[in-house]
Amino acid sequence: MSAICPDCKTPPTDHQEWSCFCGERFNHFVNIGKCPHCGYIHEFTECLQPDCKSITLHLNWYPPVTENVKNLKTDLNLISYLEKAPLSKNPIRKLDVE
Ligand SMILES: [Zn+2]
Ligand SMILES: [Zn+2]
Repeated sequence: MSAICPDCKTPPTDHQEWSCFCGERFNHFVNIGKCPHCGYIHEFTECLQPDCKSITLHLNWYPPVTENVKNLKTDLNLISYLEKAPLSKNPIRKLDVE
């Protein structure tokens, strides 16, 4: 999974580590923020770039998720367009009629 900081767009490196409340240090990007020691799921991830240090929602680091949501919205728009479209221009309704 390719993650980037939502603010500075820098990807985290494989050897970056974040510390958990339990004292464990681990890479948030191995198991979507889940601590391998205590199992706590870290909802926020701090960017370790010295000039960024932005603390953002961990899931916002995954651009494909955002893209998928955008695509999903497009699909929903298309569906609501088809539902409102006149019968002759509506392939879904046409199938129903037959
Ligand atoms: Zn950053
Ligand atoms: Zn922990």
